[in-house]
Amino acid sequence: MKIAIIGTGYVGLVTGVALSEIGHNVTCIDINPEKIELLAKGISPIYEPGLEELMVKNIEIGNLQFTSNHIIGLKDAEVVYIAVGTPQGEDGAADLSYIFQAARDIGQNITRDVVVVTKSTVPLGTNYKVKELVLLNLQGNHSVEVVSNPEFLREGSAVYDSFNGDRIVIGADNPEAANLIEEVNIPFGLPIIKTSISSAEMIKYAANAFLATKISFINEIANLSEKVGADISEVAKGIGQDERIGSKFLNAGIGFGGSCFPKDTKALLKISEEVDHDFHLIKSVIDINEKQKINLVEKAKERFGSLKGKRISLLGLAFKPDTDDMREAASISVARNLIDEGAEVIGYDPIAIENAKKVLPESVTYVNYIEDAIKQSDIVFLLTDWKEIVEKALILSSLFMDQPIIFDGRNCYTVEAAKKYHVEYISIGREPVI
Ligand code: NAD
Repeated sequence: MKIAIIGTGYVGLVTGVALSEIGHNVTCIDINPEKIELLAKGISPIYEPGLEELMVKNIEIGNLQFTSNHIIGLKDAEVVYIAVGTPQGEDGAADLSYIFQAARDIGQNITRDVVVVTKSTVPLGTNYKVKELVLLNLQGNHSVEVVSNPEFLREGSAVYDSFNGDRIVIGADNPEAANLIEEVNIPFGLPIIKTSISSAEMIKYAANAFLATKISFINEIANLSEKVGADISEVAKGIGQDERIGSKFLNAGIGFGGSCFPKDTKALLKISEEVDHDFHLIKSVIDINEKQKINLVEKAKERFGSLKGKRISLLGLAFKPDTDDMREAASISVARNLIDEGAEVIGYDPIAIENAKKVLPESVTYVNYIEDAIKQSDIVFLLTDWKEIVEKALILSSLFMDQPIIFDGRNCYTVEAAKKYHVEYISIGREPVI
């Protein structure tokens, strides 16, 4: 099938590559000409394991092309995916300006009947507005249907998730449009759930809100555990064995970040406010997360009295391992708070340093090797559990620091391991190792 994708970010690019891999002819369109230039050369502008190889393979076969020109990209497309950003607006609601522009672009440039598929995360009712806008801008006499097809991929394993996801949700009010999009997706061999458009829009927000709730819940239990002498690792294991609870998303830490949970929980709150629904629970989830972000900074202040002049390395800057995405990363608020306290901050990340430079305070300095970060530090903050960082931070701190001390925001080590290496170790929800 001839498919166009609007937006080649984490979702659009991975979707385009995955659809080309299952045999569709895909053209990815982006308004950012630099991205398109890289993509046309077979270079992925984002770091995502396995993506570039699959992309190059499908460019060479002739299944995948890139353009910044909507006329070229939308010509003859039977299905058009919208995968543009829906960032948080000033009032907390999703900013839909990119979605609406994409809808106008589609209306003005399609050359045949089309099914528009919204992959972006959008508030209830948005798909109807997309349809209206496409129709309003139509240049010919074409039929237009919309389908909501929310995306559940996880950055860092996005390619794997595209072929191994738990389900594909197809939300449509028109059965023929739903069947067409089912046909597009059948080669993935994944369970397909067909719903109404509104339910599909709600499924995405409900899924992210539930996961964010699980994180804030375990973080609150962790904070309480510290006060009453329980160990959150043991508690999480003990509750996670219960199949009704499940062991995933029970890792206590310094809160959730990234491009989805923070903005989607706030957007859901906004959606509920607009219909006069007092959503207490999601408000608390957001508040707990805000406090949790500075948990380690507070602990460091308590331990040292003042952080003025302390050299503190942040190990891991991306919001999670295996991605270069810095959106709402914990490192941002930690770096700001430490600098406000007068500390000197050194940043290390295996992949995300270039992106980090764009969002962290200017005074942060960067090193290319974890060894250099630790050698220069009075204090280590472990913020992202990249495999390399987990493997090296404890050992290197014990080797290179005069008085080794790690504040661990991801609970990477056991209390026993920290004791064995004689490292002072402060983590989340567990007794400090002094
Ligand atoms: P992104 O910001 O990485 O990419 C969006 C891309 O769209 C950019 O490259 C931008 O240049 C392009 N664009 C904007 N307007 C355009 C237009 N009119 N025509 C062509 N290109 C245009 O965003 P993302 O992280 O891929 O997220 C996209 C959507 O998917 C969001 O709604 C997000 O909430 C949702 N989502 C993201 C993830 C994730 O892990 N990143 C997971 C699930 C869902």
